[in-house]
Amino acid sequence: MTPAPDPTRTTEEDSLADDQQSFPAQQQEPPGLTGAMTPTPDHGEQSYRGSGRLDGLRALVTGGDSGIGRAVAIAFAREGADVAIGYLPEEEEDAQETARWIREAGRRAALVPGDLTDEATARGLPDRAVQELGGLDVLVNNAGFQMARRDSVEDVTTDELDRVLKTNLYALVWVTQSALKHLGEGASIINNSSIQAYEPSSSLLDYASTKAAINNLTVNLAGELGARGIRVNAVAPGPIWTPLQPATQPEEKVQKFGQDTPLGRAGQPAEVAPAFVFLASPRDASYVSATVVGVTGGKPVF
Ligand code: NAD
Ligand code: MG
Repeated sequence: MTPAPDPTRTTEEDSLADDQQSFPAQQQEPPGLTGAMTPTPDHGEQSYRGSGRLDGLRALVTGGDSGIGRAVAIAFAREGADVAIGYLPEEEEDAQETARWIREAGRRAALVPGDLTDEATARGLPDRAVQELGGLDVLVNNAGFQMARRDSVEDVTTDELDRVLKTNLYALVWVTQSALKHLGEGASIINNSSIQAYEPSSSLLDYASTKAAINNLTVNLAGELGARGIRVNAVAPGPIWTPLQPATQPEEKVQKFGQDTPLGRAGQPAEVAPAFVFLASPRDASYVSATVVGVTGGKPVF
């Protein structure tokens, strides 16, 4: 994991360290694969220690093949949960690797591939997870898409708009509606928001608007579902080293990714997963609903 900057360094040491904190130039086509990334992200494989906080729960993590979703799947499994992961069919190798870690933790892994921009597929996802896990207690709406290789609002295509809004918003509503048939008292929903909801970048204007909408949806869902004993929260990550970045950001932004945060570096997926564990835990977060937990390297989320 990249170390935090040392405030006592000289300027020369600083520029050396800046080089170390930059990422090598790299590009992929969406959705991107973990194996093509340099350096390999840290999903907590060697570090996350569970303590039974999700014992016996059953979770569905959309986009659980890679990045933040993989780190969440590994952490949930080590906390005692069985985990189903959604992903795109072309991400099968990443999904198999996540499943391997879930099984290594002694939990059941269910693989439910499918393109969530398709309504029937999105609505069918929770049922497929329940068929394999026997029920559902935690829904993590983590799948997301962005496109940042553009200079102006005038460059945004209808295809991009469709893909961003359908993946980030339509699918979130479709999957949630369908999951509600299975979620009972004590269950929870966790949505993946973003620092982009608070500090939007112009190249990500459509994506940023979906993340602001996800925060808004989180409040309304929590308001409605509280009466059923279901908590709804969101996590807002800052810049996190995942396949989404080399697959959708221009090369020069990838190289400097995360350097503009107060902590001076990008975060790793392993550093985001504990926030999801906290919000999923019926004991630790029993009175927590309608909130957003920021994991941003120091950028404010209020
Ligand atoms: P990632 O590429 O590892 O994960 C995104 C996943 O979304 C993919 O693995 C894919 O399985 C899934 N997905 C995308 N389109 C899909 C579709 N049409 N159908 C089914 N699944 C689809 O990258 P990540 O950064 O871990 O992204 C996870 C979430 O975190 C996203 O919602 C993203 O917006 C959010 N986020 C990421 C960052 C960051 O810097 N990486 C920052 C803030 C928020
Ligand atoms: Mg992926």
